[in-house]
Amino acid sequence: MSLVFHILTLFPGMFESPFRWGILAKAIQEGKIRVETHDLREYGVGPHRATDDYPYGGGEGMVMKPDPLVAAIEEIRARGAKGPVILLTPQGEVFHQQMAKELASLSDLTLVCGRYEGVDERVRQGWVDQEVSIGDYILTGGELAAMVIVDAVARLVPGVLGNEDSALKDSFEGGLLKYPQYTRPAVFRGMRVPEVLLSGDHGAIARWRRRQALKRTLERRPDLLSKAELDSEDLRFLERLRSEAEG
Ligand code: SAM
Repeated sequence: MSLVFHILTLFPGMFESPFRWGILAKAIQEGKIRVETHDLREYGVGPHRATDDYPYGGGEGMVMKPDPLVAAIEEIRARGAKGPVILLTPQGEVFHQQMAKELASLSDLTLVCGRYEGVDERVRQGWVDQEVSIGDYILTGGELAAMVIVDAVARLVPGVLGNEDSALKDSFEGGLLKYPQYTRPAVFRGMRVPEVLLSGDHGAIARWRRRQALKRTLERRPDLLSKAELDSEDLRFLERLRSEAEG
């Protein structure tokens, strides 16, 4: 199983370094993912290979022309890519872990990076399947957003993480933030690792971790709890935390 990311960008050079490191570099080497950039300038119009133009109706900035974007999308499609075309835009659905999981099961996907004031509306209407934002702020271009998506999706492609289990225990899996983690030394500048983690009692460790994850989520992201997978013991524990906080 492998996943190909097609990235449409005016700045393909931006993608040279981020995927040369760590888990993603290994995944590329092993053929589990592929990141292909497509330089929009090559599809530009006229002798100057224009990719942007003034907005109809006036106003600030430039708008990305539809013709180069559509030519690039059609060429990628003609070469056999079947997956969704995703436009990076601050107006899209905010990216989340569940979306990353769904995208990780595909064989290919195309990420369109906007620049300037964004892309001509007709591209969105006719050639885009999904619009995704990485948060409520404005970037200068979609490239960093595309990198975030590639990173989050690629690590969920089967076989990319060495230990399959580790993705299952990350924050957001099961709807909770992850418990706090420690490594050696057991005492650092006078701060001790919680005793239970040194006990070797795996049942007690699992219980402690579950409760820490619940506590952390309640403190930092209580909004996640309504969708989390919770059993009766979890609910009792949360109830206790809430009444202690009130009390
Ligand atoms: N004028 C646009 C608006 O107000 O919606 C913003 C354009 S922004 C300066 C240029 C490009 O950066 C966008 O077309 C988009 O591709 C990308 N971008 C900016 N913020 C983003 C975000 N939060 N998530 C995803 N892409 C973003």
